[in-house]
Amino acid sequence: MVDTHTHIYMPEFSLDAQPEGGMEGQCATVDRALSAGVSTLVFPNVDRSTVGYMHRLHELRPSCTYMAMGLHPTEVKENWRDELGYVTELLRDGKESYIAVGEVGIDLYWDKTFEREQMIVLEEQLKAAHELGLPVIIHCREGLDRTLEVMQSYPDVKAVFHSFGGTVADVGRIRRHGDHYFGINGIVTFKNSALPGVLPEIGLERILTETDSPYLAPVPHRGRRNESAWIPCIVARIAEALGTDLATVDAATTNNAYNFLNIN
Ligand SMILES: [Zn+2]
Repeated sequence: MVDTHTHIYMPEFSLDAQPEGGMEGQCATVDRALSAGVSTLVFPNVDRSTVGYMHRLHELRPSCTYMAMGLHPTEVKENWRDELGYVTELLRDGKESYIAVGEVGIDLYWDKTFEREQMIVLEEQLKAAHELGLPVIIHCREGLDRTLEVMQSYPDVKAVFHSFGGTVADVGRIRRHGDHYFGINGIVTFKNSALPGVLPEIGLERILTETDSPYLAPVPHRGRRNESAWIPCIVARIAEALGTDLATVDAATTNNAYNFLNIN
């Protein structure tokens, strides 16, 4: 099993939940995931403030963790040019260190102030992905029109729509722009979630499993701080929704993640 989207490098996973705390808590969180059968974890970056934590945890657990570099759309503010320059420089300098560009995208749920800037920042990061031959981790919340508008200039860039919670129609719209993947997390386990009904449309061969830790803890852990060790809850619900067994979903989604991220 693979957690293709997890922020367990963040300070809230340190034992004292302090920004300057040690990394023991984060290391223990990785180890709990390994014990639960999750062999590979992918850390997407958020902004300048998260880069150090992400690198530190990767250095402490180098064989089972991978990093993506990008500027998150909700962190696109007045200083977006500096922040964009910072992450694209890291991407271009450290191209062996990162397996994807992410997380990047459009988020108009909280704030539409920087809509135009979010589109420019997404475009520049897609350009970097295109140049470096890297796949992209897309964060899209109330921004599918804008996201697809920007992505249409980069038809060769492979993407995963992380934390996908859309409809069958959304799957169709995304597919008209490319053969992309869909990141499925704890939302699929929530009572009254429509997502299990959308999974057959996506199909097992385009599903990536993720937790989006520390958010969106799956049932029966809902409301708690999420962690990568709970991927099996998500895999089990996907298997149920597709009328297949856990081992089949485990094998297929692991293979999907390795193919998408070029992990051998
Ligand atoms: Zn995320």
